[in-house]
Parts: sequence; structure tokens; C-alpha cells
Amino acid sequence: MTSLEQESSPPRPSLPDHDLEERYSRQILFRGIGAEGQQKLSAARVAIVGCGATGSAIASLLARAGVGSMRIVDRDYVEPSNLQRQSLFDESDAAQSLPKAIAAARKIAAFNSQITVEPKVEDLIPSNIESLLDGFDLLLDGTDNFETRYLINDYAVSRSRPWIYSAAVGSYAVTLNVVPGQTACLSCIFPDSPQGMVETCETSGILNSAVNLVASIAATEALKLLVGGTAFPNLRQTLLSFDVWTNEHAEISAAKPRSGCRACGERNFIHLAGKSRPHITLCGRNSVQIHERQRPLDFAEMDRRLQPHGTVRHNDFVLKFWRDSYEMTLFPDGRAIIKGTTDTAVARSLYARFVGS
Ligand SMILES: [Zn+2]
Repeated sequence: MTSLEQESSPPRPSLPDHDLEERYSRQILFRGIGAEGQQKLSAARVAIVGCGATGSAIASLLARAGVGSMRIVDRDYVEPSNLQRQSLFDESDAAQSLPKAIAAARKIAAFNSQITVEPKVEDLIPSNIESLLDGFDLLLDGTDNFETRYLINDYAVSRSRPWIYSAAVGSYAVTLNVVPGQTACLSCIFPDSPQGMVETCETSGILNSAVNLVASIAATEALKLLVGGTAFPNLRQTLLSFDVWTNEHAEISAAKPRSGCRACGERNFIHLAGKSRPHITLCGRNSVQIHERQRPLDFAEMDRRLQPHGTVRHNDFVLKFWRDSYEMTLFPDGRAIIKGTTDTAVARSLYARFVGS
């Protein structure tokens, strides 16, 4: 256990039982949920991978709806440019560069102290996916890249676990429910990373309303799944896309798996096997992530060592180091995000020089 997982919440006033019934009363009144559905929600366990814009919005909706147990996995920290759309964060989180998973868990605890939220400050990779995602009823995609989505798809299909794909970029939002053995999976629809979706928020910008649209649809599908199960007739069986700026929208049937699909047909889980996963990856925003091996770091000692070489600042969760035009953010497990370059060799050399190879 790292200190991140052990973070203890300050004592909070908790609501008595009758207030809990009151809390969900408007949702219980809704016939699709009812008292029985509310109990199912409170017993449900979901994992949200990625807690940026869509992940924040999905986590917020499901937490307010009373989903009893939630794990939030995110590798990143809060920055000022996130605040336009990442609804669980505020200026103080950005000023402290708090990891998004930690900041999200704190925000949720402030509006619903009756559910369990477990933050995990980690990059989801083949070697940790089992320990991070095992045992959850439903997996939700809040990531910003196809590499991680294919990994989630491989894992979900191999374990027969439902998951919901959600993405938003520019004014465009898209979502798909994947129920393995029943519907098409992500690889059925996109055998390879789709060309049109390689745009990112860094290149195309993003409207917060596109985020909230896709998060609302995905969260509602999640409620249907958790209350009605995978055979629930109202579950959407299409790839739904909507452009909130042009009003164009489309649905492609995803009701049946595609024959010959690598993942759900041939059960060839190349992303889970980790063959295509480098240890150094570009992660948007003119930055490179290094996660070559686990090496627990002592931030106080690292802070002292780096002082003569640039500007250093740290808290319990991240250490930031500025030198020339580069900004290196270190996490307690030794992972680093180096901003100011897209050249992996430059990033690797900075890391080797100041953290160690
Ligand atoms: Zn498939």
C-alpha cells in the first residue's frame, strides 16, 4: 500500500438512515429505479478508468446516484487548463498539482460520504490491470486514448465483464456499451485505432457540453446495467455519436459481435499481452510519460538532491521539478511525466540524469 491508498479522510458528519432515504427519494420515485433498484445501486461496484473530463462527470453522476463503491484510476494531476471541463476539480487542486484520483475522491466525499471511493494514482497497463479492475460489476472509460481503451476492451472481453466506452473531442461525443458475448466489442467496430478519432483535446480543443452529454448518456446506461443487468431490454445496442455544434448525430448497430473479431471472436488479446505497450509514451500536451520500472521515491530526499539544479516543489502526492523549458512531475512509484518535449530520448535523458536510470 502506498500513502496514496492509505489517505484517511477527515471525520465527516454522516446522515442518519431516514435522511439517506430522503437523499435518494427523487430517484426512488422514478419507476425505472424504485426502492429495489436503489438497493442494487448501493451494492454495486464500478471502476472508472481515467478521471479527466468524461471520467469526472461520470463519477460525479454515479456517486450522487448512490453507486455504493467506486474505484477511480488516473495517472495524471490537475492543471489550470483542466478546469474548463473537468467538473470535480477546482483552482486549489490545480495550484497543488493534486493527482486527479485523489482530488476526485475528496470532492465526492464532500457531497456523498456514504459511499466508498478508492483513488488509485496509477497508469493502467497490462501488468496491473488485473489488480486494478478485478471484481467490479462494470468498467467505465474516462480515458483519452485508444491504447488504454483497447486494453480495457481486451480485459473486459476476456473476463466477460461489461464496459462502456465514452469519448469527447471538439464538439463531438461518442459512446458504446460493450456486453461481452452479447453485443459488438470495441475491436468489432474499430479493428484498428480509428483515423477520425486521433484528434485530441490538445489539437482540436473541447466543449464542456460535449463532455457532459456523453457522460450523461454513459452514466444512464450504467444505471440500467446495474439495476437491470446485462439482459435489460432498454440497454442501447448502438455506437452513438453526436456533434453538439453541428447537430449531426448517428447510430451504428452494435447489437451483434462481428465474426472474425480479433478480441471477442478469436480471443486474441494482444493488448492484454502487452506486446504493443512501450514504457515511454507520448501523453498529449507536449509531454512524455516514463514508467519503466517501479522505484519508490523519497520526495524529501529527492527535493534536496534537485535543489541545486532547478526549482523543486513537492507535497505528499507529487514532486515537480523545473529546469530550462522542461517540467518534470514525479509520482511516489517513480513514474514521471515530462512536459516541454515530445522527444522520448530527451525525456529519458532528463529522467536518467536527475532521477536515475
Ligand atoms: Zn469484438
